Amino acid sequence: MAGSGSAQDRLDKIVMTIAHEMTADVCSCYVMRAGEVLELFATIGLNPDAVHKTRMRVGEGLIGDVAAHSRPIALANAPSHPNFAYRPETGEDPFNGFLAVPIVRGGRVRGVLAIQHKDRRDYDEQEVETLQTIAMIVAELVVVGELVDSRELSLVNDLVLLPSRVEGTSLNRGVGMGVAVLHRPQLTIRQMVADDPEAELARLKEAVTSMHSAIDQMLIAVGESDSEHAEIMQTYRMVAADRGWLNRIREAIRSGLTAEAAVQRVQDDNSARMAQVADPYIRDRLLDLNDITNRLLQHLAGKPVVATGGTLPDEFVLVARNLGPAELLDYDRRRLRGLVLEEGSAYSHVAIVARALDIPVVGQAADILRRVEPLDFLIVDGDNGQVFVRPADDIQAVFAASLAARQRRQAEYARLLELPAVTRDGQDVKLMLNCGLLIDLPHLKTTGADGVGLYRTEIPFMVRPSYPDVATQFENYSKVLEEAGGLPVNFRTLDVGGDKTLPYFPELGEENPALGWRAIRIGLDRPSMLRKQLRAMLMAGAGRDVRIMFPMVATVAEFIQARRILDLEVKRLKDGGHPGPADLKVGVMMEVPALLFQLDALLPLVDFMSVGSNDMLQYLFASDRGNPMMNNRYDLLSPALLRVLKMLVEKCGEAGVTLSLCGEMASKPLDAMALLGVGMRHLSMSAPAFFEVKSMLRSLHAGDLAAYMDQLYHLPVRSLRPYLRAYAADHGVRLG
Ligand code: PEP
Ligand code: MG
Repeated sequence: MAGSGSAQDRLDKIVMTIAHEMTADVCSCYVMRAGEVLELFATIGLNPDAVHKTRMRVGEGLIGDVAAHSRPIALANAPSHPNFAYRPETGEDPFNGFLAVPIVRGGRVRGVLAIQHKDRRDYDEQEVETLQTIAMIVAELVVVGELVDSRELSLVNDLVLLPSRVEGTSLNRGVGMGVAVLHRPQLTIRQMVADDPEAELARLKEAVTSMHSAIDQMLIAVGESDSEHAEIMQTYRMVAADRGWLNRIREAIRSGLTAEAAVQRVQDDNSARMAQVADPYIRDRLLDLNDITNRLLQHLAGKPVVATGGTLPDEFVLVARNLGPAELLDYDRRRLRGLVLEEGSAYSHVAIVARALDIPVVGQAADILRRVEPLDFLIVDGDNGQVFVRPADDIQAVFAASLAARQRRQAEYARLLELPAVTRDGQDVKLMLNCGLLIDLPHLKTTGADGVGLYRTEIPFMVRPSYPDVATQFENYSKVLEEAGGLPVNFRTLDVGGDKTLPYFPELGEENPALGWRAIRIGLDRPSMLRKQLRAMLMAGAGRDVRIMFPMVATVAEFIQARRILDLEVKRLKDGGHPGPADLKVGVMMEVPALLFQLDALLPLVDFMSVGSNDMLQYLFASDRGNPMMNNRYDLLSPALLRVLKMLVEKCGEAGVTLSLCGEMASKPLDAMALLGVGMRHLSMSAPAFFEVKSMLRSLHAGDLAAYMDQLYHLPVRSLRPYLRAYAADHGVRLG
């Protein structure tokens, strides 16, 4: 490989050496060219005139079969095989024994390496392994672009084995383009061969040990409370300790590879196997093995496991199996153009955070990690739930045009800024924003929103390495209020637990975290934490109007208890001579259905109520909001949920309690239309949705819609969505 001469010379020498070392009569190397064609590039033993002449399609003959399925073929008597394609120009008739392996790099087939023997003979596993290892080294020669022009290579990459469009589910609308950054990137291996296998084995051992202890650390950190993560980590640990896997790596090292190359070699084999497996469970385990392999490579390189730092491309699309909201925030959002998840669902917090950042997201993109390599160009089409991998120029042009159109539409929406949020029948609607980061607050000005309907205080907590003290929180809340410039801000107390975990927070072995110790339950059990947060909020709000609400309240008694803690803090401030807030309004999140049956006792105690439709849907239908299998199973526009909302409108109206809704539902024009139809007049949404919703409501006759909806609530259907969509179409309601 490192010898002198052209790449072709070196390849010629390589096939000669292989034939010699493996006592074969023939050794040939086929290289993939554009159009899924395998071209004979070098041979010893076959007719040399056939070089650069013999070509076969992927799938054609035995060589094409190896490429098509990315798997070795070993035959004692090749000519008798039904797939044997006789090529007279090669003069290969006298050869019986046949062993061919794919030349794989980055999960893609780049060619085929074959040896042949005159005699009929069976090849043992060791020989197959050896040829695979050599093929891996040959792959390096093939991909550097000396044998085949690198422009053709990229064309080859587009065509071979990989579809260029991946379907998923839209988790946030919008379109973004950029190069792929894999959340667990593969490292590039520089040194392929090593002289001292013992030293490499020792390096492997050390890396395996350090990887195991890091995984154990993660397991301790995850605890058992987040069952999904815990399960993944348990599997990791099992896979990482898999003796067969480690033995295969050791064998590859003994064949002369560096530890890194050996790990990679086994992974290539694994990726090829994965392409053959349809069983989702086994695929999952193989995917875990890929993850583990990347970890092991990182330990071998002595690099940190989460490779979010470093130099990110200027415009990139993040690709991950799944992601926590804090992990997303690790990436530089100014360069982040889109997010693609192999899993993920619309109400998961990572999707919510991505929405706040206006990043298009496609979730449940099957196999995306296998199909995409670092720096592949990607288009994330969040509007239609699809991802284009290395799209051709014409597709890129279509999306560039659509991005430009979107920008023009945004410019049109800007005109809406000056117009009031009033329906056609004169109903005033308050439109507010959901915020969680300081960067969200400038949107108050750009949208002209009426305030912050939900300030998720947990997001700043989630992105810190340790629990923020009162002073830090005070600073944060003060900035929020300053930025809000007198507009109301509904601060929600810490809502962690479930899928929102804090890196420094003790984890518990909960079987159902969504039904477990979370939100106000933690606050009431750890009152000093809640008190500190309330103290910081009250201090920040000195002399101003302060609005505080409690999340996940299930009983009036819980609200009363939380309110008492708040009163204690108010008194504490007063006693300490601090100026208190000019006015204090206290609200409750309506997320747990049990609270619906305590309204008579609850409403007299609260100043405002905000429906958390994300959790309400989850608890009303017993349907995990983060579980991709449950995605779209139940609908927010179901008669059940809409009836709940209608009832709340009536009860809150009677009690004089302001009712708003701050779940993702308010961010979607059709859903928001339904909210106006049930009588809601305060909606809180993510900033990117603001003008679409405003445009919708200005084209709506709310009274007319309410009358129409009155005929629908009793229908025995899963969802009223089709009826509402038809109404919008018939009545010229603008849905964006
Ligand atoms: C909700 O549940 O709808 C809500 C707004 O709260 P979160 O999404 O933060 O749980
Ligand atoms: Mg909630």
